[in-house]
Amino acid sequence: MNEFRYTGYAQEIIFAPGSIARLGDAIERHSWRRLMLCSTGSLRRDGTIASIEKVLGDRLVTIFEHVQPHVPDIQVTEALAIADKHDIDAIIALGGGSPIGLAKALSLALEEKRSGRSTRSTSPIDQPLVPIIAIPTTYAGSEMTPVNGVTHHSDGISRKITVSDSKIVPKLVIYDPSLTLNLPPTLTASTGINALAHCIEALYSITRNPVSTATAISATRSITSALPRCYSVPNDIEARTEMLIGAYLAGTALANVSMALHHGICHVLGGTAGVPHGIANSIILPHAMRFNLDATASELAPAAEVMGISLAGRSPEDAVAEAIQRIHTLIADMHLPQRLRDVGVQEADLPQLAQLAFQNRTVQNNPKPITDTAQLETLLRAAW
Ligand code: NAD
Repeated sequence: MNEFRYTGYAQEIIFAPGSIARLGDAIERHSWRRLMLCSTGSLRRDGTIASIEKVLGDRLVTIFEHVQPHVPDIQVTEALAIADKHDIDAIIALGGGSPIGLAKALSLALEEKRSGRSTRSTSPIDQPLVPIIAIPTTYAGSEMTPVNGVTHHSDGISRKITVSDSKIVPKLVIYDPSLTLNLPPTLTASTGINALAHCIEALYSITRNPVSTATAISATRSITSALPRCYSVPNDIEARTEMLIGAYLAGTALANVSMALHHGICHVLGGTAGVPHGIANSIILPHAMRFNLDATASELAPAAEVMGISLAGRSPEDAVAEAIQRIHTLIADMHLPQRLRDVGVQEADLPQLAQLAFQNRTVQNNPKPITDTAQLETLLRAAW
């Protein structure tokens, strides 16, 4: 890694158990007056939305609380009409990657509507017209990144299309581990494996840099230590705190590098086959790591080491093979699905999914070249 390019983004991060109580002050400090909240029903049911309504009073001018997974384009259109009508000046995204994704798409769409032109940013110092405040309650990490995926439907196929734009990086992120205490075990496990996958693909990314590598190694240590504890004792606030720090660091690594085979396949499985993102991650991660093993063992060896695997007297490939087996066992121990057939993917659909994955830009950024659709179909069949 003698050459690299690194982009830093202007963000304020507030991390503490109970930090949601600081939301009102932070919003006052930033002078936001007309806010829209994007979230999901589970956060209404557990009282989190009500607590935000109480803190913000009439500064919260509208709430869109039925965000669906994978950011369908129809929801972006619907949210745009509401945001426009209420003349909002900032968006709060509360929840997982889906509300944060909708907020990102909405910010871009609103700016285009208000300025009357396409406003894709080319410089990290460009600032958004309608900034995003993210309050993540899963471990997916979107709050740290300039990337967003929206699912479009055409020619009878749904496809998730990702864009990268520095203006959609949330300007304020409030990490409050107490908001994750109600995250059910399966979502804890699956979004936690998503965070681990960010670390793995950041470590072997073709655009890795010293910051992404350092954050990915540190995050791997936190996640592999805390995730099993969060799964087995959901209200262990210490484990939840360590896990959320891991997710933050994993998101930081993700923000600055291109992802690869694993993430590209997961986007196809989510956008086209409708597999929940964390579940797709749990099924694909060991397969993608095995596929890449011979080309990436040196880069992944530090991750194996922080998982407690000794590197002494053995090849990096051998140590990383043990790490893959441990990750596979962790996924099994948390009772996550491990086969595509168990999450509604039909065997007959595998050739088309492989074809879409082959065309995927993220897949083509894999450190080990993907030269043939057959490589992807073989991987998908192994995962089926
Ligand atoms: P999600 O946002 O779709 O949420 C999954 C479920 O978790 C929802 O039903 C939600 O209501 C529930 N939930 C969330 N927080 C909860 C809580 N505290 N208690 C109870 N239930 C809760 O899932 P996700 O895995 O967080 O996000 C996946 C989406 O994010 C995908 O579209 C993925 O592509 C995207 N993503 C984007 C990036 C990026 O950098 N742009 C990174 C990671 C994921």
